[in-house]
Amino acid sequence: MELIQKIFDAGVVGAGGAGFPTYIKLNCKVEYLIINAAECEPLLETDKYLMRTKNMEIIKTIEEVGKIIEAKKLIIGLKAKYKEEIKQLIYAIEELNSKVELYFLENFYPAGDEQIMVYEITKRSIPSGGIPLDVGVVVSNVGTIVNIYDAMQDKPVIEKYITVVGEINHPSILKVPIGISILECIRACGGTTVENFKVILGGPIMGVLVDNDQIKERVITKTIGALIVIPSDHYIAKRKNASISHIINQAKTSCIQCSMCTDMCPRNLIGHKLRPHRIMRSVGMGECNEKILEESLICSECGVCELYACPMGLSPRMVNAYLKKRLREMGIRYENKQKETIAKKIREYRKVPTTRMISRLDLTKYKEKEIKGPIEVEVEKVCIPLSQHIGKPATPNIGVGDIVRKGQLIGQVKMGDFGANIHASIDGRVCEVSENIVIRSENNEVIS
Ligand code: SF4
Ligand code: SF4
Repeated sequence: MELIQKIFDAGVVGAGGAGFPTYIKLNCKVEYLIINAAECEPLLETDKYLMRTKNMEIIKTIEEVGKIIEAKKLIIGLKAKYKEEIKQLIYAIEELNSKVELYFLENFYPAGDEQIMVYEITKRSIPSGGIPLDVGVVVSNVGTIVNIYDAMQDKPVIEKYITVVGEINHPSILKVPIGISILECIRACGGTTVENFKVILGGPIMGVLVDNDQIKERVITKTIGALIVIPSDHYIAKRKNASISHIINQAKTSCIQCSMCTDMCPRNLIGHKLRPHRIMRSVGMGECNEKILEESLICSECGVCELYACPMGLSPRMVNAYLKKRLREMGIRYENKQKETIAKKIREYRKVPTTRMISRLDLTKYKEKEIKGPIEVEVEKVCIPLSQHIGKPATPNIGVGDIVRKGQLIGQVKMGDFGANIHASIDGRVCEVSENIVIRSENNEVIS
């Protein structure tokens, strides 16, 4: 249990998603530990970089995590096309005489959806609304494993590797302190190639489009792995920017009920009762069939329905995201009434090729650009949110005017709390404590 304590102390959370506190996730016994290394969203390079350069650390850590959860199988799921990464991981597995196995995935989207990956590797469908634990699996991503390795060396999570691509002069992988502003990251890559641009935090499909008036305030947190710059009038920007009233009006007037969205839905194909065409009908016709609308709660928001399947250019995903939010506000939770979850046989033929997704999204030109790095970026100011994870925000244990050291605990949760500790990512003086802790570096004589 010493490792669990170290993971808690270091404030490790899921590095690739909502930021689930890792010390809680690992409080279980399972058959499989699966490392999600598919990096399935177009343009992202961070996990591949980590696999190439931290192969020994990754394999050692998987073995240690496997011991805590008593996993019989330790498997890294990655794409067969990642030749160099596979070579480096096999080298580490052999050097360390490890029982870690590699599972090669085809190049399809969304291979990195954890429910899809669990099905691919174990042939077990997670029940609708469930989690991997329901079928004896823990899934962790590569970035989280690297952070656990650092925690084993008593190093807290204070840095992040991120991919910065798109309309950028020097697309790069950056190593940055947590809390750095996204504008500093863009600057470190030589600025943008267009004047009017939008920034997506995360992958181009599932990432969040930052409003222009928030660009100056947004910072890199423990869960952000990429920053994509696109022109303001790019297809993706227009889709992400559409208002919900416009989307619902479109559903009312243009949905032809062809059911392509349902036929191609990756969650429907692994056996979940998620039928976006029925949801669109219900919303479009104003039927408000509650049971149908509640199906939106099990949508992963992968975007296959809206960006690939729908011949009318409609947005079942955005409708689902809107409904999910409304239903949750009303305290409605998904209740699984399915007796069994069985994947459809046709699934094998309905995987979306990533290359076609990239070309449909008009991202091919960014894919072809060389990516430099890693470049280590130093800054004079960081703004560290006390909540970078799902659950309870950390409680500050420092005040305005305090001098803090890089790696020092500045926001804490109690062991057992659903949350994660927060640490200073640079040396400096605390100049604000609100829902964020702002630190400014000072001259060496002040803080030495
Ligand atoms: S694919 Fe588009 S048009 Fe067809 S049912 Fe779904 S939302 Fe309607
Ligand atoms: S976004 Fe669309 S395709 Fe993806 S899970 Fe939701 S309904 Fe299915």
